[in-house]
Amino acid sequence: MLKFKKGDTVKITAGKDKGREGKIEKVLLTESKVIVPGVNLYKKHVKGFGDVKGGVYDIPRPLGYGKVALICPKCKKMTRVGFSMAGDAKVRICKKCKKEIDTK
Ligand SMILES: [Zn+2]
Repeated sequence: MLKFKKGDTVKITAGKDKGREGKIEKVLLTESKVIVPGVNLYKKHVKGFGDVKGGVYDIPRPLGYGKVALICPKCKKMTRVGFSMAGDAKVRICKKCKKEIDTK
């Protein structure tokens, strides 16, 4: 079961972008990291090639699970993710308001 999913709103809790919020664009399962657009950017120098223009691009660097906290879509608070059974399915719940995080 995944702690974080694409589209989750998270708050950054560590690093240079601490306090910022964003939506998860990608979850890197094998590394337990997430990518949030516009957060934890670093400059990448890209060589021009074919139609790709060379230059310096801002690329979001993945953040470890420990550096982001989920913002509950129901109570809008920063929360930990809990798990609960809904029939046969395991669902994610907000530990603060106990509501299901995923909307079906
Ligand atoms: Zn909640």
